[in-house]
Amino acid sequence: MKWIPSLLLTTLLVAAIALPSSARAELQAGTAVVDITPQQWPLAPRGSFTPRPTDSAHDPLKVRCLVLDDGKTSIALAVVDSCMVHRDVADPAKRQASEATGIPVEHMLVSATHTHSAPFANAQHGTPQELAYQKRLLEGIVEAIVQASKNRQPARAGWSGYDLPDEVFNRRWFLKPGTVPTNPFGEDTDIVKMNPPRNNNILINPAGPTDPEVSVLHVVNAKGRSLAVLANYSLHYVGNVAGQMSADYFGEFSRLMPIRMGNPAEGFVAMMSNGTSGDINNINFRNPRPRREPYEQIRIVASKTADAATRAIRQIDSASGDLTLDMKQREITLKHRVPTAEQIERAKSIVKVDAEAEKKLPRLAKAYAIRTLKLAEEPPTTKVLIQTVRIGDLAICTLPFEVFVEIGLELKAKSPAADTFVVSFGNGGYGYLPTPEQHQFGGYETWLTTNKVQKDASVILVDNLLEMLGEMFP
Ligand SMILES: [Zn+2]
Repeated sequence: MKWIPSLLLTTLLVAAIALPSSARAELQAGTAVVDITPQQWPLAPRGSFTPRPTDSAHDPLKVRCLVLDDGKTSIALAVVDSCMVHRDVADPAKRQASEATGIPVEHMLVSATHTHSAPFANAQHGTPQELAYQKRLLEGIVEAIVQASKNRQPARAGWSGYDLPDEVFNRRWFLKPGTVPTNPFGEDTDIVKMNPPRNNNILINPAGPTDPEVSVLHVVNAKGRSLAVLANYSLHYVGNVAGQMSADYFGEFSRLMPIRMGNPAEGFVAMMSNGTSGDINNINFRNPRPRREPYEQIRIVASKTADAATRAIRQIDSASGDLTLDMKQREITLKHRVPTAEQIERAKSIVKVDAEAEKKLPRLAKAYAIRTLKLAEEPPTTKVLIQTVRIGDLAICTLPFEVFVEIGLELKAKSPAADTFVVSFGNGGYGYLPTPEQHQFGGYETWLTTNKVQKDASVILVDNLLEMLGEMFP
């Protein structure tokens, strides 16, 4: 080490301490993982139309969290192995975590992976097992944010993306005229069918695109070793879990990434957030793949997304420790869709029919009749939380819906940031979010109660998100 006169050294130290308050400190990052696998059984996975209780989890459910701090602004990004984390869990969790860490609640994202094999996450009136799980979930989110905040250390970050088109398929199809079944409301107006029969001569075209990108935010520690990967892929889920609880491919991705990263830092965390996958699944309708054993396809998709994420990380030329952090949120009031008087009358008569009479009704007619009467009792409007995150030149948008892929692609194309990805199932869940164009085609995701909010909600939300991004990236 070179000899430095002590007076000069003192001057340098004072200068370093007396940085103007506008200067950013070096980027800091902290990570944490907390187990939230249910402990009390039985519980029913909530991604299915007919949930069947189970007594076991095939693999653990976790909360994974990344906290970033540039000396002025700190943000917490948590990804939860859950089908949907509603605001009656996410909001108190954020408040408690904020009290413990000083990170403002407006700078916290709690998003669900949307694994379909996790318990119901807003069970205020549930079974004792559901209530116990909900408590564990809430405490797990708080602990993950608090631990990640405590674990902050000097870090650098970069981002990139790598296309993996093979595992995403638009699940809504135009079918030959006259082959789309009558919908549960007794209407023959749908021209699109979700999950049509595979490899069938009635298939015409998918009704929308896919987004093949595996996006990654990669954080390294001061020594350049991998500390965190936040990935994002627009795939609803994989499934085929033989009735058990499972974190689906999202969990397996997190378990594979430390191996792909070689020699990651202590505390390394990889998490896969759900992109815009409301109309996307893992089924190749035109060329069906061979039958798989339970969990086999989950392992395949996890391995391929981990490879894509690794390639994306390799493309990042230089991670930076000098990045602007920012996070904004807006609460948007949306109108609930209102069942017509005829729909309510029809629903009232259908809920009364016996099993024999039900067989003569369109598929799911009774389930939708029950849901219609429930929706009719909802208040006329609902408030939804949307967020934008800035990490250097990377933008992240969040929406609390099962967001159609068209919306994610539009946000990516119109975003003023150098790179953008969109996290669905952020801060609650309000059903499917199709575009107005997709509403015209009909089909499951557009049905009243599967979709609960006004048909132009996606336009309102995209406009707001772009305005927020515009303020963030002047
Ligand atoms: Zn779903």
